[in-house]
Amino acid sequence: MKREALLDHLRKAPRWDVLVIGGGATGLGCAVDAAARGHRTLLLEAHDFAKGTSSRSTKLVHGGVRYLAQGRIGLVREALAERATLLRNAPHLVHPQRFVVPVYRQWDRLVLGLGLSAYDWLAGARSLGASRLLSPADTLAALPGLCRDGLVGGIAYMDARFDDARLAVTLMRSVFDHGGLALNYLPVTALTHTNGKVTGVAAQDSETGESFAIEARVVINAAGVWADAIRRLDSTTAPGQLAPSQGAHLVIDRDFLPGDAALLIPKTSDGRVLFIIPWQGKVLLGTTDTPRHEMLLEPRPLASEIDFILDTASRYLARPPGRADVRSAFAGLRPLIGASQGGATSALSREHVIQVSGSGLVSVAGGKWTTYRHMAQQIIDRAELAGGLPARPCPTATLALHASPAAASNDVFGTDRSAVDALPGAGIPLHPALTLTEAEVRYAARFELARDVEDILARRNLALFVDAAAASTAAPAVARILAEELGWSDTRRRERTAAFVDLAHGFMAGPD
Ligand SMILES: Cc1cc2nc3c(=O)[nH]c(=O)nc-3n(C[C@H](O)[C@H](O)[C@H](O)COP(=O)(O)OP(=O)(O)OC[C@H]3O[C@@H](n4cnc5c(N)ncnc54)[C@H](O)[C@@H]3O)c2cc1C
Repeated sequence: MKREALLDHLRKAPRWDVLVIGGGATGLGCAVDAAARGHRTLLLEAHDFAKGTSSRSTKLVHGGVRYLAQGRIGLVREALAERATLLRNAPHLVHPQRFVVPVYRQWDRLVLGLGLSAYDWLAGARSLGASRLLSPADTLAALPGLCRDGLVGGIAYMDARFDDARLAVTLMRSVFDHGGLALNYLPVTALTHTNGKVTGVAAQDSETGESFAIEARVVINAAGVWADAIRRLDSTTAPGQLAPSQGAHLVIDRDFLPGDAALLIPKTSDGRVLFIIPWQGKVLLGTTDTPRHEMLLEPRPLASEIDFILDTASRYLARPPGRADVRSAFAGLRPLIGASQGGATSALSREHVIQVSGSGLVSVAGGKWTTYRHMAQQIIDRAELAGGLPARPCPTATLALHASPAAASNDVFGTDRSAVDALPGAGIPLHPALTLTEAEVRYAARFELARDVEDILARRNLALFVDAAAASTAAPAVARILAEELGWSDTRRRERTAAFVDLAHGFMAGPD
């Protein structure tokens, strides 16, 4: 899957049925859906796949206990149905996860127990196991790192977790499996209009500066928190719709919460929930809900967010974590819908809105990773209408994703199936604190469209999010392998290493 060959294909085939702008959960989901329906499908991503919000989630495929408490029954029911679909279609990436809610007042045990029974009931036949009340001893056995003072028991329930960036890369590969084309580092710079209708886009290769004029029957704007900017390319007077909210996460060592169960703190001091989840051999803590006005590509957790997460976790963990224990601190922007007039973004809807402009641009805003497939189904239904394409049934409810045991492939670009293990440097991690091997770097460069040190260390492997210092130390080795794979000069190798080291520095929480 060489970039030059893919660009050549684009030069020779400048006309498409469906063109998707944005390679996050939403855009990738749309491209898989459209390609699997048999539409000629192209996806263009400005940076790397999942560079935006889609690699910065809490990694939960869930109905959302918090949304249940807010009475958003429809959203919870839909998400629980999609949870079952994802567990079936991507069993290699999505896994059931046991959660335990510790309880310190008998009354809470009753209220939370009833709420979680309702959660079970909404999941119906798709339930991953019934919730149940736990004694204090059983709660401590499930959550060995929990503070025991005042504990009156707990409630265990089932949900699911996943690796967001890996699912994004898998969706990208699935686009190819179904005959579509997806390219990163190719931002859309303008929309083209003919007789008042959107008929294509202009895009520019970030690596070479080459411009592309691409025609499409329908263009889908799936640019996440940047969707308003694309809507303004369609009409300079399009009003802004998004009110982004930042969520921060911290990663600490596993010995703060050994065991397999995740901990849900049901009510933080700002009235939200906070998760403490075993993840990638570490523990993930999050998240926050902070209104932001700038759509930064690389948002950073605020000092106040880091302190809030550490303070909240410290009330529940027997060994309170401090800043020095943080291996990685990262933030993402939720593309929430609502005029940005201040106020709590936690109250804004997580549901999505699909709009078709007067010129036929299909824009989507909002949503969740968990529901990306169902959203994509609705978006492509609308896009078929907007683009005058034949209406074809959506096959994704039962479509096994790339590399899932049941997946089929029609990849026309000849992605070979060579296992990572057949490549040089298999099985030997590049850094003792990381799982990443030389073979995986080579595989990601050859078959997963990785173009930069960051693509490898943040999204093909999740090292940056797991341990920023270790990822920084591994950067020179990754750059050396990439230089061989991609034919980089020494200057480029040094420059890309330095850029990553600089980025990784921003993922370190700093001293107390
Ligand atoms: C802190 C936090 C925690 C979350 N936790 C969960 C969770 O546990 N479970 C869950 O289900 N959901 C969760 N979500 C929600 C979920 O992550 C998002 O709904 C989802 O990732 C949004 O995907 P997206 O594709 O819409 O946006 P993005 O992932 O941001 O993708 C948009 C893409 O468009 C690209 N783009 C922008 N402009 C252009 C252009 N001109 N040309 C080409 N490309 C362009 C960007 O580079 C970007 O990659 C969480 C969100 C946050 C912020």
